Amino acid sequence: MNVRVRFAPSPTGKLHIGNARTAIMNWVFARHENGQFILRIEDSDIDRSSEESEADILKDLHWLGLHWDEGPDIGGPHGPYRQSERLAMYREHAERLLQEGKAFYCYCTPEELEERKQKAIAEGRSANYDGRCRHLTEDERRTFEAKGRRPVIRFHVPEVDLSFSDIVRGEVTFPAGQIGDFIILRADGMPTYNFACVVDDGLMQITHVIRGDDHLSNTPKQIALYQAFGWPTPQFAHIPMILGPDRTRLSKRHGATSVEEFAKRGYLPQALINYLSLLSWSSESGEEILSVQRLIDEFDFSRVSKSPAIFDIVKLNWMNGVYIRQMDVPHLTDLCLPYLEKAGYKLPERPVLEKMIRVVQPSLEKLEDVIAKTEMFFTDAPEPENEQAIAMLNRESTQKVFWSFLRQLETIGQMTVDQFRRIMKVVSEETGVIGKDLWMPVRIALTGKMHGPDLPLVAEILGKEKCRRLIKRWVME
Ligand code: GLU
Repeated sequence: MNVRVRFAPSPTGKLHIGNARTAIMNWVFARHENGQFILRIEDSDIDRSSEESEADILKDLHWLGLHWDEGPDIGGPHGPYRQSERLAMYREHAERLLQEGKAFYCYCTPEELEERKQKAIAEGRSANYDGRCRHLTEDERRTFEAKGRRPVIRFHVPEVDLSFSDIVRGEVTFPAGQIGDFIILRADGMPTYNFACVVDDGLMQITHVIRGDDHLSNTPKQIALYQAFGWPTPQFAHIPMILGPDRTRLSKRHGATSVEEFAKRGYLPQALINYLSLLSWSSESGEEILSVQRLIDEFDFSRVSKSPAIFDIVKLNWMNGVYIRQMDVPHLTDLCLPYLEKAGYKLPERPVLEKMIRVVQPSLEKLEDVIAKTEMFFTDAPEPENEQAIAMLNRESTQKVFWSFLRQLETIGQMTVDQFRRIMKVVSEETGVIGKDLWMPVRIALTGKMHGPDLPLVAEILGKEKCRRLIKRWVME
């Protein structure tokens, strides 16, 4: 079978990471199967859709590195790939169902529907559409039209159980009578989601529908439509939602939720793909750091979890840090540059800049961290970070260390890693101060912090003059 899957976002906002996870899973599966990955824009809700959102979504998918084989921007044999450009197809298919007696015009107003629904509920009957317009005569239709009513088209849902075998969830059955006759084409000619989705998936020959399980309740309606058209039903795979740490659906309340926000903060696309993939799937090897190629090679639906995944930012940060540490310094420097520029730092020559990046690389979880982590190189006079640090600077032994350090500084030309080490050795011999008591005060004077990256490297980057000035600040005359 030639696998064809699709990602079908509605362009009503930024690409949410839950949707990104759906896109990734479709894409990985398509690549694993040597199939096609199709991008379809579901913009039939004209009030909520915008071209800007569509452009943002395409940009974020590109950033993630997900490339589609057919889509609105590149076309393909089953286009157009934007629902707003397929309205004639929806009309034609709705008319086909009308002609076959599987759909009907409905003139009920929202008020009438609501009133009958409340009555039905009060009488203990089903709240579904009651079938009022199923069998209107031509005369009845003309009377409604004369009153200026414009009809919707409703699908007449057959009274049968609807079952399907979901790849992730197994057998799912929706008993007969559960779903009422639903609207497929609105009075203004726009299709509803379920109808457009089936017409598109059918015509685009989609073989597998992989999506969030918030769409599970739509599936029986869609299956009923496939059956009405006499089309083969694709296989469905409903993947569990992503929840926040409080086990409610992941939303803005939990922090960043759009791919764009993650990109801005300096998460790497490979790390985000890796992390989002592992939210609902695991490698048989138990390993967690998996390249995109390994995700593709190893993907297997039988290892997709049925229970909701909890979004864990601490784990994502860790994973992103792993990817940052794997990067070569010149490349990492390129990626960090925009952040440093935004911070307004006066940047040194490229070789010194790369040295700075090398020094802070192990401590970065996101690229934006580079601003705080390199701050020590750009401030004139770093302040001790807390009381404990100040106390350390005021110790008697520290004063001896600083005096000795300043004297040794006069003996060198340039500050280098080796010179710094040598100076510290001599200072230790001269003063008898060793270990933490020796190193920590020097670190605090040079960086303001009690802990941090390799100090000799930091000193080399700061240079002799700045080291002198920073140590001198804390020497009591
Ligand atoms: N436009 C729908 C959504 O964004 C697509 C659902 C589907 O994949 O069928 O939720």
